[in-house]
Amino acid sequence: MGTERTLSIVKPDGVRNGVVGEVIRRFEGAGISIAAIRMIHLAKKEAEGFYAVHRGRPFFASLTDFMSSGPIVVMVLEGDDVIARNRKIMGATDPAKADKGTIRADFAGSIEQNIVHGSDAPETAATEIRYFFSELEIVS
Ligand code: ATP
Ligand code: MG
Repeated sequence: MGTERTLSIVKPDGVRNGVVGEVIRRFEGAGISIAAIRMIHLAKKEAEGFYAVHRGRPFFASLTDFMSSGPIVVMVLEGDDVIARNRKIMGATDPAKADKGTIRADFAGSIEQNIVHGSDAPETAATEIRYFFSELEIVS
């Protein structure tokens, strides 16, 4: 464990619904630092690249349409055990199964349109951070 970095995304539904500030407030309230942040509107191909591990899943086309449907906020979060802690703050993928008080339980509309993304392991965090940020764009 110790200090880690993870990639967080406020997905297009989160930006459309105006919960960017609320999501960031929850991270900062938990003592998690923002080490990089940017808004970007992914092209379909870029969304496919990001979710390449899910290529072949039945929801891949719909998911990548959704992820390229509007601007997103990409962030590098930094803190102790931040990969697991971020996922706890987000809640389960399916908002119907997410614990009360999590971002997805409070704001998500469906298993696909679930407001936030968070890396699930150190290796995926490193790959996902590199997809959006160069080392020079990340403060420490
Ligand atoms: P994320 O990777 O976005 O943080 P996750 O790790 O909780 O979420 P994954 O299983 O990695 O979930 O799925 C990636 C994303 O694909 C989900 O966040 C969701 O947007 C979408 N997704 C996952 N399962 C389904 C499904 N059964 N139907 C539709 N969309 C899905
Ligand atoms: Mg995942």
